[in-house]
Amino acid sequence: MSQPEPLIRRDFVIRRTTTAVAVRWAGREVLIGGGAPIVVQSMTNTATADVDATVRQILELEEAGSEIVRLTVNTPEAARAVPKIREALDRAGSLVPLVGDFHYNGHKLLRDEPACAQALSKYRINPGNVGKGTKAEENFAAMIEIAKRTGAAVRIGVNGGSLDQALLARLMDENRAAGLPHTPREVFLEALVESTLESARTAESLGLGADRLVLSAKVSDVQELVKTYRELSRRTRHALHLGLTEAGIGSKGIVASTAALAVLLEEGIGDTIRVSLTPNPGAARTEEVIVAQEILQTMGLRAFAPTVTSCPGCGRTSSDLFQKLAAETQEFLRRRAGVWRRECPGAESMTVAVMGCVVNGPGESRQADIGISLPGSGESPVAPVYVRGEKVGVLKGSDIAPRFQDMIEKFVRETYGR
Ligand code: SF4
Repeated sequence: MSQPEPLIRRDFVIRRTTTAVAVRWAGREVLIGGGAPIVVQSMTNTATADVDATVRQILELEEAGSEIVRLTVNTPEAARAVPKIREALDRAGSLVPLVGDFHYNGHKLLRDEPACAQALSKYRINPGNVGKGTKAEENFAAMIEIAKRTGAAVRIGVNGGSLDQALLARLMDENRAAGLPHTPREVFLEALVESTLESARTAESLGLGADRLVLSAKVSDVQELVKTYRELSRRTRHALHLGLTEAGIGSKGIVASTAALAVLLEEGIGDTIRVSLTPNPGAARTEEVIVAQEILQTMGLRAFAPTVTSCPGCGRTSSDLFQKLAAETQEFLRRRAGVWRRECPGAESMTVAVMGCVVNGPGESRQADIGISLPGSGESPVAPVYVRGEKVGVLKGSDIAPRFQDMIEKFVRETYGR
């Protein structure tokens, strides 16, 4: 008799077949595409010429889990800072590959600052910003030649805000001449895709293999992004860098990015992701890394940090004790995730429950790897703790949070410690 299909399948996403691209620095190699786990990347917002501030931020992004970090290279000062940043990272023991983001003058900066070209593991080239006419072809070719020499990978990074205007005008004319019923917006999206593919073909004709090329075509509208990437994925087997550009600030940026990326990732589209959030003033840049990780983890595609199951609370939770404990536990898990990834592999997949009362508390806590059920209004003022279904103790008093964290640390060390 055949086995029934399991109710919940974790292998539901059929990933597209793409060519793997290795992004390397020293002994570190990050694979994009070719069935490798989807890579999380981020971008700094410090002035690249400010070496200390940029190194600090890159280290923070890496500690948060960014596997590749991109930085702006827009001036000779920034280009001269890149090898210094690379050296400082190497000295600090960080081998995170760096990507240089080039617009307008990338061909000059890479040519004039060979140490910068050498220190970068990947160049982002925006075909809409490399110059006009034959100059554009020359500048693009110059950057590809340098990438061939240094061994750097290249991302052809097309963006709706800086689309190649000559190509757009050509496609508009062709659409008009053929009497085709496509709207200007549809032609615009086709131009995004065509600009990406045309640049990839040119790069390959210049001798840069598909195993060195990643493609992206970003727009800021969710439905348009989905359409664009579906079309891109239908027409190429190159590895794809996925992200909603200019996603916005706060919950809007998070929700818009999640909506767009979730649809495409579910269809197996996307080999590396970046979440382009506008940070709140003073907020940590690492937020974009955490959101990217959470998108992948909640979809069951990767695991980065233990997940917290917590109830929303209701009239049965008489104080904010439960909210504080949930927030502190989440913060603790994120803080420890980097260390555990190195010393306790596997801990990133565990679940932690923080529940507000007896109604669902003990049930959810028992199903988690480790869980706590706080007392609701009128309940006995004790919080039972469960480890893999077994009640292992009871916490009470004002120091429940640190004692629960100690129990989590002990559980992680005993269960996943090398
Ligand atoms: S577990 Fe208790 S406190 Fe939490 S939502 Fe359910 S009933 Fe409310």
